[in-house]
Amino acid sequence: MVQPTPQTSDALHRRGLMFILSSPSGAGKTTISRMLLDGDPAIRLSVSATTRPMRPGEVDGKDYHFVTHAEFDRMVEDEQFLEWAHVFGHSYGTPKAQVKAGLREGQDFLFDIDWQGTQQLYQKLETDVVRVFLLPPSIDELRRRLTGRGTDSAEVITARMERARAEISHWDGYDYVVVNDDIEECFAKVREILHAERMKRARQTGLIGFVRELMRP
Ligand code: ADP
Ligand code: 5GP
Repeated sequence: MVQPTPQTSDALHRRGLMFILSSPSGAGKTTISRMLLDGDPAIRLSVSATTRPMRPGEVDGKDYHFVTHAEFDRMVEDEQFLEWAHVFGHSYGTPKAQVKAGLREGQDFLFDIDWQGTQQLYQKLETDVVRVFLLPPSIDELRRRLTGRGTDSAEVITARMERARAEISHWDGYDYVVVNDDIEECFAKVREILHAERMKRARQTGLIGFVRELMRP
């Protein structure tokens, strides 16, 4: 295969995209996110700030930036967030600086955010955003997965199941909806969406000059 010359790859420079993965809790968003991030160095997790306490195994700066309420409020005032929301009684926000600079350099970002954040990002940066929603194959299977995960008490599982119906009602605010029945099949579909979205004409910012050059008599 002929390798592109440096000139060609410069000309085909691509703007990064914002890949949003949402789902009702327990449908498999974390699992699919990990598979995407592990298998594709061109996409990076956008690390949110949150006021919620750190869970065992979480790492500050990797899973979240864990901040106090006062720090979070100051970040809101200083307009450091692309979006922020209250979820399950805590505040969560997407820091602006890293994402804006990364997109220009062709870096893709994965967002594990809820439907409220998705709406806000879409309103601000519509052309950069790709919205993917995962659904469980059935409500019974969702309950089985939440129970099987073993991270939540019976009360928390009941609360998550109650919220799941409300979260599912936002399915039509997404560009793609994928049912997570078989994990490998679901992952393959999500990866195909990412690959196809990368090829969109509007994201290939160097195309005009490149095509002009091809058409030069
Ligand atoms: P979420 O991040 O949406 O809350 P997780 O990714 O933590 O969900 O998945 C919930 C549980 O279901 C985990 O134990 C995970 O291993 C399991 N799981 C995820 N996808 C599937 C699948 N397709 N089939 C069976 N189990 C799954
Ligand atoms: P958890 O506390 O379980 O990590 O996340 C709880 C919920 O907050 C999840 O639905 C997750 O998608 C959402 N979330 C995490 N970070 C952000 C963020 O920066 N903005 C918004 N809007 N939601 C977030």
